[in-house]
Amino acid sequence: MQTFSTIVIGAGLMGSAAARYLSQSDPNIGIIGPAEPADQVTHDGVYASHYDQGRLTSAASKNLIWSRLVRRSMEQYGTIEAEAGIKFYRPVGKVQAEGPHSPAPESEALMRVAQAEGVAYTRFAAGDDGWRASAPGLDFPGGFWVIYEPAPAGMINPRGLCQAQLRIAQQQGATLIRATVTGVAEDEAGVTVSTDDGNAYRAEKVIVAAGAFTNFNDLLPRELPLRLKTETIILAQVTPERTAELAEMPIVGYQIMDPDIDDIYMTPPVQYPDGNFYVKMGCNTRTDTWPATLEEVRAWFQSGDSETCKPAMAAAVRAMMPDTEFLGFQSGRCIVCYTPSGLPTIDWVSERILTLAGGNGSSAQCSDTLGRLAAGVAQGEAWPDDLPRDPFLLHEWDTE
Ligand SMILES: Cc1cc2nc3c(=O)[nH]c(=O)nc-3n(C[C@H](O)[C@H](O)[C@H](O)COP(=O)(O)OP(=O)(O)OC[C@H]3O[C@@H](n4cnc5c(N)ncnc54)[C@H](O)[C@@H]3O)c2cc1C
Repeated sequence: MQTFSTIVIGAGLMGSAAARYLSQSDPNIGIIGPAEPADQVTHDGVYASHYDQGRLTSAASKNLIWSRLVRRSMEQYGTIEAEAGIKFYRPVGKVQAEGPHSPAPESEALMRVAQAEGVAYTRFAAGDDGWRASAPGLDFPGGFWVIYEPAPAGMINPRGLCQAQLRIAQQQGATLIRATVTGVAEDEAGVTVSTDDGNAYRAEKVIVAAGAFTNFNDLLPRELPLRLKTETIILAQVTPERTAELAEMPIVGYQIMDPDIDDIYMTPPVQYPDGNFYVKMGCNTRTDTWPATLEEVRAWFQSGDSETCKPAMAAAVRAMMPDTEFLGFQSGRCIVCYTPSGLPTIDWVSERILTLAGGNGSSAQCSDTLGRLAAGVAQGEAWPDDLPRDPFLLHEWDTE
């Protein structure tokens, strides 16, 4: 049986980052996880939350810990790109449009954290159009305030980041095994990891980084308190010419006031694997659900309702980009995974099994730092002084 010092289960954003850090000092690392399915609708295995071309990265957060996680990761993007030879980062800045009742408490908190942490931003009051010079192609209703965060805020390609982390880990000697784990059995001497192709692997320790699928397939000796929420996106197709014109368009956050949708995020247009160019927009919708079982999650990815709120989403994109012609809109389905503390869990579930899970909808941008923290815990390193340990430990949901 092939034996590793540590096996990382889940070759997604966090798992690939953990594998890169682990393999810096120990090449005997296994990473086990399936490749992206060719067809989401017919696939009946596990899915991931990084099958996309655009994620927002922004250090201006109302939460000091998220801000620090993101800033550390931003410092690594260039190194990862250079070592892997894969570009995934576009530092185009961020525009956050706030309702007329601004400043909302969240914005006040965000600005406090940004000031304390030295994150650059400019706030434009309603009627002050100063932000437009940095935001080609964008518009918001009259009366909205805007917070502009310059680079290094911007966009990352999550597929590219994942691929880059895996490539570096492999360059450092780690072994990538394309399979789905179907069981993890711990004994006094180590851990046996079984996969769907009939193989089994042995390790001294295991890091479970299976995203929204962490509680399925018998990966852990106990269930984690994770809550899963469906997440709907739309891809708004634009021409290659318009994409080139909007090369400097920032990423967007927008507190829209709409009965169907809220909490919009949007990326500038970028090329997708089908060769076309799309603006990606996502938001909460009134049809969001909270699937609890593997069957429910799979049903959502295969055929869930991502169409009911599509007209409202398309209308919002058109309103935010009034000078852009759209060739069509298609909806897409993803999932986000919440923890009780609101931060990812990096904690021992048993003597040899560490979990790294619970992206809370915000962990693509800082997956590198999260992987680094988990690798440090697995290797017995001290937790960094500038991050509290407690929010990353296992907590239960408040039942009140
Ligand atoms: C629509 C959408 C938009 C988002 N936008 C942003 C954003 O703008 N900015 C941001 O920072 N974050 C964003 N996020 C969140 C971010 O993508 C997630 O937090 C991040 O992907 C979590 O990383 P992960 O490694 O935990 O999970 P994943 O990236 O999902 O990786 C988990 C991996 O585990 C594998 N796996 C599962 N089960 C098994 C098994 N049994 N055996 C082996 N492997 C297994 C999967 O194949 C997958 O590769 C968004 C998420 C969604 C859904």
